[in-house]
Order: sequence, then C-alpha cells, then structure tokens
Amino acid sequence: MAEKTLDKLFHDTLKDIYYAERAILKALPKMKRGAQSPELQQAFDQHKAETETQIERLQQVFEIIGKRAQGKTCPAIDGIIEEGEEVMAEYKGTPALDAGLIAAAQAVEHYEITRYGTLKRWAEVLGMDDAVKLLDATLQEESDTDEKLTALADSAANPHAAQAAE
Ligand code: FE
Ligand code: FE
Ligand code: FE
Repeated sequence: MAEKTLDKLFHDTLKDIYYAERAILKALPKMKRGAQSPELQQAFDQHKAETETQIERLQQVFEIIGKRAQGKTCPAIDGIIEEGEEVMAEYKGTPALDAGLIAAAQAVEHYEITRYGTLKRWAEVLGMDDAVKLLDATLQEESDTDEKLTALADSAANPHAAQAAE
C-alpha cells in the first residue's frame, strides 16, 4: 500500500476544494437571482468573477505538484449549498430572505477559508513557495468576501429583516 503522507493529504484536499469551487461557481448565479437587494446581487456577481480566477489558481497548483486538475466530491459543500437553496425556497418573498442568503453565503466562505488556510499551511511545510502565494491570494479574497457580507448584513439585510418582525 502506498504511503499516506502530507503530500497525499495535500493533493486530496486540493481535489476537495477544486470540486467545491466549481460547485460554488454554479451556485452563485442562482444566489444572485434569489437576492432582493441590488448590493447583494452585485456582491454575488463580483464573487463569481473572483471564483473563476480562484479555479485557475487551483489549476496552477495542480500543475506545480505535477497532477491533473481533478475534483473529488465534497459532501460538505454540497450540503452547505443545499441549505442555501432551502433558505431561498422557504424565505422567498419575505423580509428575511437576504439575511438568510447572506448567512448561507458566509457558510460557504467559512468552509473555503478552512480549506485554503490548511492548504496554505501545508504548502509552507512542503516548501512550495509558489503554491503558498496562489493559495494565500485566494484565502485573502475569501476573507474579504466574508467581511463584505458581514457589512451588507449589518447595514441592510439584518435591520430590514428585524424591522419587519416588529
Ligand atoms: Fe472560492
Ligand atoms: Fe470537503
Ligand atoms: Fe468564496
């Protein structure tokens, strides 16, 4: 049996996030269509463009380790996306829809942040400097997106949902 070492773990986790990013790319237009506020729609649009670049960065990391870019089913992201679809269906046309959509989107970003955080650390340990740079660029974008979503929730979506509850 082949030895299972950190480089194998790195490759498997890369496949996991590659699958996840492609699933997210497909989900973002649906989230955009579901969103009520133009600001949130715009945020989903912008992150879709970033996600396309992130997928290209992952392809570069596959190249660095000399492997074919290939995904491996990530049940976690499938579940997170499914929960987002549930919120969209259950809160459609209600004042709490955008607050729910933002929460769903932040669950996606937080999953990505754990994956990229880990991959970046492992790339450091494995001495892959170029991979570290690529993974860090994406990690930064995911964090920025998370913060932007928090700002949208604070400034509009949460107060709007709370006001309607009074
Ligand atoms: Fe991403
Ligand atoms: Fe996963
Ligand atoms: Fe993201």
